Amino acid sequence: MAFAALQVSVTVIVLTALMFNMFRGSQSSTWWGRYLVYPATYVLAVQVGATHMLPMLIAGTLLRYLVNLLFTALSKLDTFAEPVRIHRTNPPAEQHERELDWDGPVILSPTAFVLVDAVTPWLRTTVPLSWSNIAVCFLAHYLVVEPLYYLFHRWLHTPAVYKASHVHHHSSVVTEAISGTSHPMLETLGYLANFSFPCGS
Ligand SMILES: [Zn+2]
Repeated sequence: MAFAALQVSVTVIVLTALMFNMFRGSQSSTWWGRYLVYPATYVLAVQVGATHMLPMLIAGTLLRYLVNLLFTALSKLDTFAEPVRIHRTNPPAEQHERELDWDGPVILSPTAFVLVDAVTPWLRTTVPLSWSNIAVCFLAHYLVVEPLYYLFHRWLHTPAVYKASHVHHHSSVVTEAISGTSHPMLETLGYLANFSFPCGS
């Protein structure tokens, strides 16, 4: 038991170090280190007995990359993008550099799900896929997750917090397809905690 706790602690420490590294953006000499979060999350899932989630998490993560890349490609296609283009200038170099963290939430999301699952075993219930269960999921999302998200976002717009953190996100005036998911580390963790609310698996 003690050895298992030690193993999990070591993995969480490694994940924390990788997370700090991934949000250093261009300051990080090991930009590829962010992708080590995936194997470390796999190890964590095995250690805490959450491997049942892995197929869904892998599929969901691949889908998110696909959607991000699809919208990025569409935004570069003049026939598609020109009629709805708002700014006719290119984003400044600092924006490109700042948005190197755009896939931070995508990478950390499986880790958040595994950790939330590990600390809330009483919520680990399996329900059959049905319209009524999908409706419950929607209700839980709109009655719990969205109000929390609204309050969190209002708080991010209080002057002190905005200046210290959220300005990062809203500085992208010439928005790119990936601008929406570019946030500093603590904000990303807040969003992930918010959106990891379990609603049955
Ligand atoms: Zn905002």
